[in-house]
Amino acid sequence: MSAAPAIQKVGIIGAGLMGNGIAHVSALAGLSVALLDAQPAALDRAVATVAKNMERQVSRSVIKAEERDAALARIATGTDYAAFADCDMVIEAATENEAIKLKIFQTLVPHLRADALIASNTSSISITRLAAATDRPAKFVGMHFFNPVPMMKLVEVIRGIATDDATFEATVALAKRLGKIPASAVDSPAFIVNRVLCPMLNEAIFALFEGVGTVESIDAGLKLGANHPMGPLELCDFVGLDTLLSVMKVLYEGFGDSKYRPCPLLVKYVEAGWYGRKSGRGFYDYSVNPPVPTR
Ligand code: NAD
Repeated sequence: MSAAPAIQKVGIIGAGLMGNGIAHVSALAGLSVALLDAQPAALDRAVATVAKNMERQVSRSVIKAEERDAALARIATGTDYAAFADCDMVIEAATENEAIKLKIFQTLVPHLRADALIASNTSSISITRLAAATDRPAKFVGMHFFNPVPMMKLVEVIRGIATDDATFEATVALAKRLGKIPASAVDSPAFIVNRVLCPMLNEAIFALFEGVGTVESIDAGLKLGANHPMGPLELCDFVGLDTLLSVMKVLYEGFGDSKYRPCPLLVKYVEAGWYGRKSGRGFYDYSVNPPVPTR
């Protein structure tokens, strides 16, 4: 088996919340970055966000102004896949939609070097299935970052059934180079963190639904009784109730086990458009300061 190339240049597809964070940490780690999005406006926003977030790091003396300038100069943006021709790895962080991702891989593959690796930052789609749509399932891996990327230490490195050892090792090494702590996982619905976290959040919603406690008592309970930094219902609002529901559906459908059934109250909130912080209302109402419970 040939060793994977040391990663010096990364491509990133999708310049949204996660893509700009991955570009940020990659450029600061000294890698050249080619950042691509279907929307040129998203690229402009991403570069502005990275510059703003690095500026905050400079003001807090986390990095020097020269490091920021050098890192920003390492990020090139565009909409043309030809920019990936000399990349050692391309990390896909586009919208969580399988059809979109499959189309991206189809377009990407002809532009890549034969030894280039492909990673996906998907939260829920099977790595094995995405890999099978490319010409290089052995060189395909899951690299699951957490939001906000510059702050969160963990990267789950997910082996698809075909991922080879060299690809896995190169991805673990890259995660470390980006200042992250890798946790390895096999390709199973929702991997590790969401597999454990989301059912706990769903259970907190069941406790509210069944009248076991109020929003305040459930959140205070877990903060003070389990030493969680945020109550579970507060965390639901932070994650986004639509996102939580989609992970619960992946678990429920992936395992066919009723223990993962989404709480009906979660379904109702999503049907109402009450997604949490991003829509201004979830288990708390964010139109007032401090936010107040909605039940
Ligand atoms: P986002 O909506 O902020 O960004 C997605 C970007 O992809 C947008 O800029 C969009 O224009 C772009 N895009 C859509 N179709 C494209 C295409 N065909 N070609 C190129 N670019 C395209 O989403 P996000 O939150 O950054 O999520 C991206 C990925 O990261 C998803 O797979 C998601 O599951 C995963 N993820 C998200 C989080 C999170 O907390 N948001 C955490 C871990 C992983």
